[in-house]
Amino acid sequence: MAEYRKRKGLQYDTWHWCRNCANDPKSDYVTRSTRPDGDLCNQCKSKEANGDCTS
Ligand SMILES: [Zn+2]
Repeated sequence: MAEYRKRKGLQYDTWHWCRNCANDPKSDYVTRSTRPDGDLCNQCKSKEANGDCTS
């Protein structure tokens, strides 16, 4: 199951779930295990669509 990560304290950051996303937060982030309704990272979305998402 994917883990969704979002940087703490950044109001406008998006949720990431691909480890190979360039913007995936490496520290100081919050997590959730269910897919958020919005604010999904475009890069993670396109990686997922291409089958290139490392979770
Ligand atoms: Zn991302």
